[in-house]
Amino acid sequence: MTLAHLIVICGPMFAGKTTELIRRMQAAAGDGRPVLALKPARDTRYHNDFLATHTGVRFPARAVDSDLGDAIRAAAPGSVVGIDEAHFFGDALVEPVTDALARGVSLILAGVERDHRGRAFAPFPTLLCEADKVVKLSARCAVCGRPAIHSQRMIPGDEAIVVGGAEAYQARCRTCFRPGT
Ligand SMILES: [Zn+2]
Repeated sequence: MTLAHLIVICGPMFAGKTTELIRRMQAAAGDGRPVLALKPARDTRYHNDFLATHTGVRFPARAVDSDLGDAIRAAAPGSVVGIDEAHFFGDALVEPVTDALARGVSLILAGVERDHRGRAFAPFPTLLCEADKVVKLSARCAVCGRPAIHSQRMIPGDEAIVVGGAEAYQARCRTCFRPGT
């Protein structure tokens, strides 16, 4: 049986996480591995049938919601499942991911590991521990240009998840980050 592995790609908004996920999914497909990309149905910023970046790179994907666990369980041993915006699923992702790894399914997860207040964002505390490899990306601080690790929310609201792009979030460094404003 192929040894399964978990790769976690994390970092703030605008760090290139989806680009990195697509690059790794294309590489897996190029190696002849069956691949399946999943994305949250709630993320309506781009086309529902693709992972997509603001630079126009695309990869075919299936939008899932409460059927996330079923979609992962349907993946065959030896295949590679990529999941974008993993923070949308919270801890509901943990059990399907650990089960899949035990069955020989590899996974590549991408998402924001800190929320808009800078706190750890489920399921990352658990899945970063579980990961074979972590790719932590940074963005460019929208205020000072230094490396940014935070996602500053620019619109009101304290919901954990607000779907949005440049109108709703800025990447910020530790110094320029203002949680809760
Ligand atoms: Zn800054």
